[in-house]
Amino acid sequence: MRVLVLGGTTEASALAKLLADGPRVDATLSLAGRTSTPKPQPLATRVGGFGGVEGLVRWLRDEKVDAVVDATHPYAARMSANTVAACVRTGVPLGSLVRPPWQRLQDDDWRVVPTAEAAAAALGRTPLRVFLSLGRQDLHAFASAPQHRYVARTIEMPEQAALPPNLKILRARGPFDRDSEARLLSAEEIDVVVSKNSGGSATYAKIEACRELDLPVVMIARPDKPAGHVLKSPEEALAWLHDRAPASLRGV
Ligand code: NAP
Repeated sequence: MRVLVLGGTTEASALAKLLADGPRVDATLSLAGRTSTPKPQPLATRVGGFGGVEGLVRWLRDEKVDAVVDATHPYAARMSANTVAACVRTGVPLGSLVRPPWQRLQDDDWRVVPTAEAAAAALGRTPLRVFLSLGRQDLHAFASAPQHRYVARTIEMPEQAALPPNLKILRARGPFDRDSEARLLSAEEIDVVVSKNSGGSATYAKIEACRELDLPVVMIARPDKPAGHVLKSPEEALAWLHDRAPASLRGV
């Protein structure tokens, strides 16, 4: 059985491990190529875009793919839209690993905004010290609010020309823990945190630290992300794939 896993997330890596450890599934993991040194993976890996819906349709046909699992990041909406369209066109079954968003708790001070641009506007006119935890692709949105001082945490150095002027980059890759997040926010004298609602445990510690320190969070809402058959965990994705495998592989 030939499987394409669209990855770049903790769940995709966990599924890759399950597939590598399990019975005879010929799986390829696809990464967008956002990081120059991705974590080593136990599956055959391809890197970079397919070339839109047309390119993905071609790839699925050329590689004779039997099933696709979309395990991309909750904010990678374009890839998911392309995948739904390509799977409809080719008739290839699609399972989508959907990571639940974080829920606002009683002591959380969140202001939810639709985009990074709206987050920059929501910071207001008074100069603040702002912690940006949203990846490097959206930092340019804060160039429109140059009155603030920014500390941004990214895996890679940002490349865009139009970055905000007062920007300090901290390069780090999660997971992070609550105590070190609280220490960091205090040491940098942060007034407000801007975050995506990524869900999962790897980057939740900053939300806990904000709760502990009474810091507000400007939360960028999730985009609409089309999905196929919704899968809640890598284990559920594995079971779904096995249900689609030819009887000979399932031992039936
Ligand atoms: P996107 O906007 O949905 O995708 C843009 C294009 O990148 C897609 O159309 C596709 O190119 C290519 N692409 C995306 N994921 C791919 C994959 N797994 N394999 C092959 N090609 C892929 O997604 P994004 O630009 O990666 O990120 C959007 C948001 O998600 C950002 O805010 C980012 O911070 C966040 N995010 C992404 C990742 C990640 O690993 N991608 C991880 C963490 C956070 P073609 O149209 O040419 O096929």
